Amino acid sequence: MREYSITQALSLPEYKITDIKDDLVRLLICVEPYKRKEFVCSKCGEVHIGKINSLKYVTVDDLKILDKRVRLIVTKRRMRCPQDGKLHVEHIDWVKPRARVTNRLAQDVYRLTSITTNTEAGWYLGFDDEKIYRIDLEILEGLAGKVLNPTPTCKNMSVDEVAWRKYYQYLTNVIDVDRRKVIWNEKGRTAEVLDKYYGNIGKDNSTKIESVALDGAMTYISSTAKNAPNALIVYDKFHVVQRLNTTVDTVRKLELRKARKEERSDLIEMMDCKQRFILLKNKGNLTGNQKERLDRLCSLNESIYKAMLLKESFLLVYTMQDETSAEECLNEWFAQAAASGIQAFVILAEKFRNKARYILNWFKRRISSAISEGINNKIKRLKRMAYGYRNVRYFLLKIHQHCGLLSPRFSP
Ligand SMILES: [Zn+2]
Repeated sequence: MREYSITQALSLPEYKITDIKDDLVRLLICVEPYKRKEFVCSKCGEVHIGKINSLKYVTVDDLKILDKRVRLIVTKRRMRCPQDGKLHVEHIDWVKPRARVTNRLAQDVYRLTSITTNTEAGWYLGFDDEKIYRIDLEILEGLAGKVLNPTPTCKNMSVDEVAWRKYYQYLTNVIDVDRRKVIWNEKGRTAEVLDKYYGNIGKDNSTKIESVALDGAMTYISSTAKNAPNALIVYDKFHVVQRLNTTVDTVRKLELRKARKEERSDLIEMMDCKQRFILLKNKGNLTGNQKERLDRLCSLNESIYKAMLLKESFLLVYTMQDETSAEECLNEWFAQAAASGIQAFVILAEKFRNKARYILNWFKRRISSAISEGINNKIKRLKRMAYGYRNVRYFLLKIHQHCGLLSPRFSP
């Protein structure tokens, strides 16, 4: 290949190749600007005309060529800036300055980090975690400035909290139900946090919101009632079922503790953590063997039996045809739960009673729980991928990249 055509393939306008070295691992390509190229000052951004003071050489990683890593050795000119009288190098618009990679390589990093971990992306490209992190963060911040600004609005939204660190640190995600994408997020889970979203989109857009599905938290309910007066507030099915499951699990833990005290090894074995899922799964999804074990457990422990019955009878509410029959069914359940003597369910029934109309609103707008569930699972996977995020800002952006509008599948 003649140097001329490599120059073309490199496609760095106004730069020419002056040398190419091959050190077996890498191609080192020296490039320098043509004399006619304008000098754009990296300090003030203006074009300066005058004498070049000196030259500087920087290394910039670029895309692989024929499976060889490529490192450019770029000549940068230095000139005195008339604005501050100091020497500055020229600005090069195809380089990510802090990370010392070309924009096109940075784009590749961003595509990779949207499908895999930073460590894996780094292994593939031959970069360490720190370099990947810097490139990723810079790209995501740049995109967020364009795509998430002004804050996207929606007609049907869903609000959800996510734990981002141990010790109860949470963040709030706003999801556009129709697009199935996270469109906004912020640290914290108070009413003030959600107020911020409504504040960002403005009064006009807030009043146009038709429905808001949420997890039953009073903070989100009060903020929504105040800011989006026309929205139908729905305590969504996914979170109701989640609540039922955690309550069954509370009963299990309590009974397990009792069984340990009484040294009932048969019960302990059936109720330990490994067996937990039998209680949490839908009965219809259990295998024959699992069903047998559950039946045996229920026959040995009355509280667990009652808890399972209460969970199942609650799910009947969702099989009703219309809101009126669902309401009847729900009221029956409140009575059953109150009479059960299972403390955890007595408390839950009280909570559900206060939010009954939001639970029943589901019959007015049956928002699919698959959306919340899907996004929840993706975020869980995202957390596992990173083994914790060093700062919440980065985690918020990664959620947008993996579950929202900052995915490379949507942006150029
Ligand atoms: Zn200048």
